Amino acid sequence: MKLLLLLLVCIEILPAFDYALKPKKVNEFTHCFFGVSEVMDERNNGNMSNSCFVNMGTNYIVIDSGPTYFYAQQAYKKMKKIKNLPISYVINTHNHDDHWLGNSYYSELGVKIVGSSAFSFETKVKMTRMQKRISPEAFLKTTQVFPFIFVENEKLLDFNGKKVHLINVNQKAHTNSDLLVYVPSDKIIFVGDLIFNDRLPFIIDGDLLAWIKTLDKIKSMDLNYVIGGHGKIVDKSSIDMTYNYLRTLNKEVSALLEEGKDIGDVVELVSMKKYENVNFYDTMHKQNVEIAYRILEWADE
Ligand SMILES: [Zn+2]
Repeated sequence: MKLLLLLLVCIEILPAFDYALKPKKVNEFTHCFFGVSEVMDERNNGNMSNSCFVNMGTNYIVIDSGPTYFYAQQAYKKMKKIKNLPISYVINTHNHDDHWLGNSYYSELGVKIVGSSAFSFETKVKMTRMQKRISPEAFLKTTQVFPFIFVENEKLLDFNGKKVHLINVNQKAHTNSDLLVYVPSDKIIFVGDLIFNDRLPFIIDGDLLAWIKTLDKIKSMDLNYVIGGHGKIVDKSSIDMTYNYLRTLNKEVSALLEEGKDIGDVVELVSMKKYENVNFYDTMHKQNVEIAYRILEWADE
């Protein structure tokens, strides 16, 4: 018992990992914490995705809660220095763990947590990727807290006239649980990992054609700001890298499928060298070609 108490005291006094987060101003109402362009590891401790705060007048909404309890706690502390507002909603753009494990902090504050209706409870695993790859100190206090308000198709939030549209993509694009957060008065949209602009998108959980279609829709909207889940570009050109990469991938793989080439040849032929200097090209591109081949092979039938 004494040992347990001592342990608990130690846990309380141990300094949490300091993420050294710096909020970047996007516009009058929006600040984001932009993650580094790396995979999660014991140095970045999961600080490799974006988390944004929008001032709705008397409260903040948070888009993606980040990778851990401590990350979320430190992000909110920084935001309170800019303006000390309570948080009304945390919105999860999809079910990848670098975007929502910070829910565990916000749920303690009594914040409403929203996600796509496809944000499946099957997501609950014994140990998330995050927990496996980052340091235990940084992961302390982090638990798997899921959204408990779900968006079936579209949900409108109204903050004294300022509106937020939550739009369920309703088809597998980056994942099967993609949710868009659109604030028309600010001409800003948050799209989660439908957009990467500092690294290659990975299509393993997604569907290539539906992803391109969803980006077509976003491109047709009247927007000044488009914020993705990874990468620091905030204007509409934020879409370009992911969009062009996926379209070229689709075009080149489809053409070779048409010629009857087998998967091995296609993986070698679709090298898309233009992207070889983009982060993660070496580890992800060939896999993307292979996945695209499998998707398009069936789409053909
Ligand atoms: Zn993701």
